[in-house]
Amino acid sequence: MDTDLTATPQRGRLVVVVGPSGVGKGTVIQRAMEIDPSLWLSVSVTARAPRTGDRDGVTYSFVSRDDFDRLVQADAFLEWAEFSGHPYGTPRAAVEEHLARGQSVLLEIDLAGARQVRERVPDALLVFLAPPSFAELENRLRGRGTESETEIQRRLSIAHTELDAAGEFDEVVVNTDVEDAASRLVSLAHT
Ligand code: 5GP
Repeated sequence: MDTDLTATPQRGRLVVVVGPSGVGKGTVIQRAMEIDPSLWLSVSVTARAPRTGDRDGVTYSFVSRDDFDRLVQADAFLEWAEFSGHPYGTPRAAVEEHLARGQSVLLEIDLAGARQVRERVPDALLVFLAPPSFAELENRLRGRGTESETEIQRRLSIAHTELDAAGEFDEVVVNTDVEDAASRLVSLAHT
């Protein structure tokens, strides 16, 4: 199915936020939405198991692998990708609805998903949220204590690939200070 999610003066801007696990995407995005409540964050669908703090329908919509595959077949996703062994996807209809209402929409997705959005929605704004350093990223990832050591190692290895791809993005925002990074994201959503 063709998707025309092009921004016009009446429509919002589609903003994709990518960054390695532990960089603070969730915190920066939540703060950006407090600063500008007109922003809307897409709720992704995933077949990974809920973690502590996850709320079905809020942090993600959690479905079985079979249900996820059915949604793929029905072309319900604007983009979808496998991350660390589990599928994650952005429901197309809700994104379209909010853009049509004039709201800017934030997608917090992985690198493979961002590349799909770039192809399908050429005027989407791709923002890379980078850590001040790799050591700081590792500290933050361990500090949140939500993943096993094996999962941390897996995510750090993915982080290397993601950091190498930062040059593909329209904007790189370094998350040294949450308030600064969130304000920057809000202004980018209105460009
Ligand atoms: P987590 O398991 O830590 O919640 O998310 C793992 C990765 O999946 C993160 O990089 C996150 O940005 C990405 N992700 C979350 N939702 C989506 C989605 O709808 N599509 C894609 N492609 N990636 C997603």
